[in-house]
Amino acid sequence: MPADFVRTPAPRRTFLRHAAVAAAVPAAAALTGLDLASPARADTLPDFAPVPPSSLGPALNAAGYYVAPIADALHWVTDGSYQAMFLTTREGVMLVDAPPTLGHNLQRAIDDVTRPAGLPNRVTHLIHSHSHADHIGASGLFGGAERIGHAENRWLLRRAADPLRPAPDTVFEDHLVVEVGGERLELHYHGPNHAPDNIFVRAPRQRTLMVVDVVYPGWVPFTRLAVSQDVPGWIRAHDVALGYRWNTLVGGHLGRLGTRADAELQRQYVGDLRDSAKSALEGVDPTPFFAKYGPTGNSWAVFRTYLEAVAERAAGPVTAKYLGRLAAADVFTVDNAAAMLESLRIDSDVLGPFGVHA
Ligand SMILES: [Zn+2]
Repeated sequence: MPADFVRTPAPRRTFLRHAAVAAAVPAAAALTGLDLASPARADTLPDFAPVPPSSLGPALNAAGYYVAPIADALHWVTDGSYQAMFLTTREGVMLVDAPPTLGHNLQRAIDDVTRPAGLPNRVTHLIHSHSHADHIGASGLFGGAERIGHAENRWLLRRAADPLRPAPDTVFEDHLVVEVGGERLELHYHGPNHAPDNIFVRAPRQRTLMVVDVVYPGWVPFTRLAVSQDVPGWIRAHDVALGYRWNTLVGGHLGRLGTRADAELQRQYVGDLRDSAKSALEGVDPTPFFAKYGPTGNSWAVFRTYLEAVAERAAGPVTAKYLGRLAAADVFTVDNAAAMLESLRIDSDVLGPFGVHA
């Protein structure tokens, strides 16, 4: 581990426990840094830096959700981990995403808004941001709604054959305008990023953009660059998002809405991580890894230890720079660095010792 790597110091008991495991399974303990083997015990789990208060969202109600207007008829709802948004109209409700953790609270939130206004509470149109079950796994609760998604969304959901995630009735390739009762959402596709079917949903009149699993307002991205299937596409999605006009971002995760400053800060984090991963790939000396494992013929041990060393080296300065500015910089930056360096290797031909030699 490089000297500049920042990690919250482990309590002494945790350290001793690590030491005991390290003695028994030296490679595994040294590489993961954490001992999470079952049965887990809360008092031996690691500590992390406090979450900045500005990264947290509003308090939830007794049922476990928060719903509020974004601008006029456009609303958002969160349970602190997941988010959806909906537009109320005189003809019915347009809902974007149906996370299963929100589940039946989605209809309750819609009822909270529509009943006092005397508007219909039925979801007539349900837009899928992408196919992942954690964002649309409650889609099946909205029987009778017209489901809308990208063409790839239909293919993925037909393959999944999941009754909780019916395939969309209406699909599009590049863009689609959905107009209901005088309200309007614009759907745009810019190629694969986090998922092959992930789309950008604009509410132009409300100057709001919803794009899920790209920007995490106030937080570093979820592990391994949001477990993105196309990392170059995911990196580019930051530019695409910022290229649209909006003031409010619905990111699909965590407890609060986003601003353009949030998107710009995450773009900067990602850029810094890419630069740091590139220099770590070029700078970490592979000799010890080959010297140790080469003679045993264990190629995977060479790769694992070398790549983890590069990830730790890459993450160090980025964690230090963003700790206190983005929540959980000390939780996911090593994993994000690991995903970044794999993308640099296979998508951008930055292969370090595994490239073409002179
Ligand atoms: Zn996803």
